[in-house]
Amino acid sequence: MTTTDGNIIGTDIVVNHGLPSRRWNLVVLGDGYRTSELIKYRYDVQNFIDKLKDTKPFDELWNAINIYRIDVSSTDSGADDPVACGGTGATPATYFDATFCGNGIQRLLIVNNTTAMQVASDRVPEWDMILVLVNNTVYGGSGGAVATSSTHPSASEIVIHEIGHTAFGLADEYEYYAGCGSGEIGHDVYTGPEPFEPNVTINTDRNTNKWRHLILPTTPMPTTSNANCSQCDPQPSPVQQGTVGTFEGAQYFHCGKFRPEFNCKMRALGPPFCAVCKEIIRNTFSPFLIPISQIKLTVTTGNRDIDNDNRVFLGFGGREFRCRLSNDSDANPFHLQNNTVTLTFGTSSNVEDSGINDPRNPFMDVSDATNFPVYIRVQPKCNSWDIISATVETISQTSIFSIKYPKIVVGDDSGEKVELV
Ligand SMILES: [Zn+2]
Repeated sequence: MTTTDGNIIGTDIVVNHGLPSRRWNLVVLGDGYRTSELIKYRYDVQNFIDKLKDTKPFDELWNAINIYRIDVSSTDSGADDPVACGGTGATPATYFDATFCGNGIQRLLIVNNTTAMQVASDRVPEWDMILVLVNNTVYGGSGGAVATSSTHPSASEIVIHEIGHTAFGLADEYEYYAGCGSGEIGHDVYTGPEPFEPNVTINTDRNTNKWRHLILPTTPMPTTSNANCSQCDPQPSPVQQGTVGTFEGAQYFHCGKFRPEFNCKMRALGPPFCAVCKEIIRNTFSPFLIPISQIKLTVTTGNRDIDNDNRVFLGFGGREFRCRLSNDSDANPFHLQNNTVTLTFGTSSNVEDSGINDPRNPFMDVSDATNFPVYIRVQPKCNSWDIISATVETISQTSIFSIKYPKIVVGDDSGEKVELV
């Protein structure tokens, strides 16, 4: 039941967006994986990463995140599963001593937080969050100082819910503790002070509610009320999905506490995060991101004609932007000899199809500019292409970062793609 029950095998960076000092660093540990099960562990971690990357708003914030996987073997497989909570009574010897039945609730899966934090600090001193994946298929997880999840089929959904607690300080939005049909007592009506968490409240006044900036004037306040506080409110949502208001029943109470949307990943597994939770997540990540709001491409042509029908693309950040001016019938803005043209993508756009040629959608971070090649591509191949210089400049939303590639001399007759860096 201690660190003598296994070994630390190694550390890998599995999502790498650059220096840990510039990123939000998530460390994943495994418990209850025997050495022979570490291949499964790596698969479980990758599954989680794929799920996280697909979950809004993490998809748009991905550049802010580094993920480190520390491989830890345990003597035995699984986690403690006390009979007191209806478990099997198993007590395997594991490195982080994972056990279900925290606080007498079977789904509360806890580990030795001190050991987990020590292992993470030794290998990734700049960690922002620690997740322990526990190799057991019983449903469970928790979101304290260290987040945990079992490998139940819903595990990746559990993990993201627990990250909501551990990394962003979000409250559970569900309105029960043991369960709606459990006959639980002490969870009927909340009478305490305003909760400190950003996504639950006792305040249904639209003028002072803490997420009032997201509530439309037409949304009733409260948006739902529970008619029978001895149980969970069975009524369906009276408003369209995504409506922000105050819905009675939240944070383990049937009445007296309110949640921002009818449903949210902090209330149930499956639905997306509500708008309030999304906003908190975005705010937490914003220091780790420098979004690009504008890209400018300036090209000076030489003496030789470039065909008006050739289409030109700017390769940048792993994407291609179509180079065509919105007010020009020509397909190719660079076909005039000895001429300088500037194309602007993003804010103050002057290009055709500005919506799909916009670095803000999908989001791009300044590190994209250095992580991918920057190039100009002409299609079809053009033998008389003659460009004297090309400059690419990026402007971030905070105006603190820009990149230039000055005086790039191109004009390679043999190819149709010219790298600028
Ligand atoms: Zn929420």
